[in-house]
Amino acid sequence: MTHVTIIGGGPGGYEAALVASRLGAEVTLVEREGLGGSTVLTDCVPSKTLIATSDLLTEVGTAGELGVEVPKAVRADLAAVNARVLRLAQAQSTDIAHRLTINNIAMIAGTATIESAAVVVADTADGTVRIDTDAILLATGAHPRVSPTAQPDGERILTWEQVYSLRALPEHMIVVGSGVTGAEFASAYNGLGAAVTLVSSRDRVLPGEDLDAANVIEDVFTRRGMTVMGNSRMESVERLSEGVRVTLTDGRTVDGSHCLLALGSIPNTQGLGLDAVGVDLNDAGFVDVDRVSRTNVRGIYAAGDCTGILMLASVAAQQGRIAMSHLLGDAVHPLELGKVSSNVFTSPEIATVGLSQKQVEESELQIDVAMLPLASNPRAKMQGVHDGFVKLFARTGMGTVVGGVVVGPKASELIHALSLAVSNHLTVDQVADAFTIYPSLSGSVAEAARRLHRLD
Ligand SMILES: Cc1cc2nc3c(=O)[nH]c(=O)nc-3n(C[C@H](O)[C@H](O)[C@H](O)COP(=O)(O)OP(=O)(O)OC[C@H]3O[C@@H](n4cnc5c(N)ncnc54)[C@H](O)[C@@H]3O)c2cc1C
Repeated sequence: MTHVTIIGGGPGGYEAALVASRLGAEVTLVEREGLGGSTVLTDCVPSKTLIATSDLLTEVGTAGELGVEVPKAVRADLAAVNARVLRLAQAQSTDIAHRLTINNIAMIAGTATIESAAVVVADTADGTVRIDTDAILLATGAHPRVSPTAQPDGERILTWEQVYSLRALPEHMIVVGSGVTGAEFASAYNGLGAAVTLVSSRDRVLPGEDLDAANVIEDVFTRRGMTVMGNSRMESVERLSEGVRVTLTDGRTVDGSHCLLALGSIPNTQGLGLDAVGVDLNDAGFVDVDRVSRTNVRGIYAAGDCTGILMLASVAAQQGRIAMSHLLGDAVHPLELGKVSSNVFTSPEIATVGLSQKQVEESELQIDVAMLPLASNPRAKMQGVHDGFVKLFARTGMGTVVGGVVVGPKASELIHALSLAVSNHLTVDQVADAFTIYPSLSGSVAEAARRLHRLD
């Protein structure tokens, strides 16, 4: 029987453990913080739970337009919200532990290091455990980047892992960083009723996203009272007696009650013993892997954020599953990044799949584009939805759908139709011919496809 040792209990690790066990391997999983990893305990699950409350308040804010009078003082009790966030995260971690137990996966609570491709050592509360193994999967994740001039104190200068200790809504939250994490938290605290300033070193928010989508979000942010500071690079963040001061590289300062640092992530690849066994890392410290999650060292695989490849829970899980299928001789489908769908959980959301507008513009392919504002959708009108659109990219001539963007409420749900189309090489006619509900937001997905129909 093959013995696999997995380091890290996030989706990259625990999903791999389940697959390996199903394929007949003996599996040991070492985790130092808690099962579910950062995904469940500090990043994805907590932030989306916080955003669920913020979305509810944002929706209540539109009640007047739909003819409902609500008292002015509808507000979130942040202590209760954060208690719920932490409770939910813990419950999900417990569920995962249960699933691993019933699948006969041995779990060790401790910090692992690699001695060789055949030996992992776990440092536990009860001493050192030596694990002889046939293969290793590294799924150690990443942690928030901080700067020497902006040190989090866990009270007013915070990383995204620390915000759930807040007992009251910040009066004025300054979010530094306008990538996905920064934009999501800025949107969330704005929805919860805090004053928010978003400090972006780039000329716009969400520089990595579809330009039309980012423009909608920036416009909504500004309309909802957020201050968005473009071309503003943070130099330092310091504590004042009653708040924080963010100083920019051009000397300007912004004062607020709290500051959230969203400066990106650093892979957890130091101190693991990777140097000694010769595992290649790239310049940023991420583990180099191929499309079946192999490192350059035979028998050592890596999955998830520690590889730096599209840092998403869904991708981490898929990389982990692929690694185990490859190791244990099951059918393997190498990772296809062109089929990954992803979502920015701002209000409204941005969901994307397949080729982006930038890739379309840079590619040699001939691509037709259709873009439909949601404002023209009957369901959107009924629901008071004014912002958002559906955009579709399809190969000229063949009509094959190669990518799409949805901006709107619950775009994360609406994108699935386009994800199916991209994965299965469906044509715009096939997407348009499938019935949608009348009235529905998904009607706009079919209508965008219909606009790309060409006479044979
Ligand atoms: C704020 C935020 C929100 C996000 N929201 C989403 C989202 O909505 N959807 C989405 O798809 N992605 C989201 N992501 C990204 C997602 O969280 C990551 O891509 C995902 O956590 C990666 O999973 P992983 O298994 O690689 O690592 P992790 O989930 O980080 O797990 C790694 C685990 O390894 C453990 N570990 C590390 N070193 C050792 C060691 N030496 N010994 C033992 N254990 C060790 C750690 O304790 C950790 O538990 C979000 C990220 C952030 C920062």
